[in-house]
Amino acid sequence: MNNAITEFDALGRDAFLAKYGFKPAKNYFIVVDGKRYDSKAITGVAHQYQTGALMTPDMFSGGESTVANRLNKLGFEVTRPTMPPNWSIDELMLALDLYLLVREQGRGGFAAKVAALSEELRSLRVFPEAVRSNPAFRNTSSVALKLDNFSSIDPAHEGRGMEHGGAEDTRVWKAWAHRPDELAQAVALIRARGESDDAPEETGEDEEYGALEGRILFREHRRRERDRTLVAKKKQSVFKKTGRLACEVCDFESSEAYGVEGVIDVHHVVPLHQIGESVTTLKDLVLVCPTCHRVLHKHQPIITPAVLRRKHATTALEQSGA
Ligand SMILES: [Zn+2]
Ligand SMILES: [Zn+2]
Repeated sequence: MNNAITEFDALGRDAFLAKYGFKPAKNYFIVVDGKRYDSKAITGVAHQYQTGALMTPDMFSGGESTVANRLNKLGFEVTRPTMPPNWSIDELMLALDLYLLVREQGRGGFAAKVAALSEELRSLRVFPEAVRSNPAFRNTSSVALKLDNFSSIDPAHEGRGMEHGGAEDTRVWKAWAHRPDELAQAVALIRARGESDDAPEETGEDEEYGALEGRILFREHRRRERDRTLVAKKKQSVFKKTGRLACEVCDFESSEAYGVEGVIDVHHVVPLHQIGESVTTLKDLVLVCPTCHRVLHKHQPIITPAVLRRKHATTALEQSGA
């Protein structure tokens, strides 16, 4: 490797790449003493110094990233591209909200609206500061592109429909596009929470639950469900009434099923975009087992435990062959 690097330095980058027939690296560079070297080219030429045979570009079994991974495992420092992450549901909701607005009001001031949303997304606390500070993160062209994606999903747009959007774009479209007023409410709350200093902490669960309210509202939802005092009060009141702590959907009770007490979640039944900043009361909360809790969150618009209970009863009946 050292010989290849010495030769790279002696010839200069362009001549080195031309001599051995390599294209400039796009994303991955080996870093030696603070200098960057095209990862594939260096690897190929080092191979020649070692074995006598040049490894030409077509002999690599993987792309740049594969080569970089291998080099990294060998102990070399390799730069990685810092591509912005995929759009979160929250961000897609904000973009869809703007798309629907533009569709209704026309394209006057479009560029300014795109710029404003770009700036807003860059300050929204969905992703950590380090991710958002990347200049490519939600810049105006990526925002404009996202609005374009929505127009290609939109059945009302020039007769095309549901063809070109990404899976997440389509998911958000299906969940929200038909109820713009509720979307606007949810978006207002995402803005209020996501730009404030006390934005809810990441719990690591938002991905897992795939919450279609977006990360920020989901975190807020969890924060409310986990208010220790309220949770304790809720459990006490249910236990006093029923003598057990069972799932309100499927009647699972962990001490009866497994001899382990207290495996039960508390779920907040009112979709957050509908309650705004109001205070949680005991009647907003229900006891559900972790499985039913997750299933409740998988539905969008979010469904009530009563609706899920009916689904549960019907499915059980069908499966028993009755
Ligand atoms: Zn359950
Ligand atoms: Zn919940």
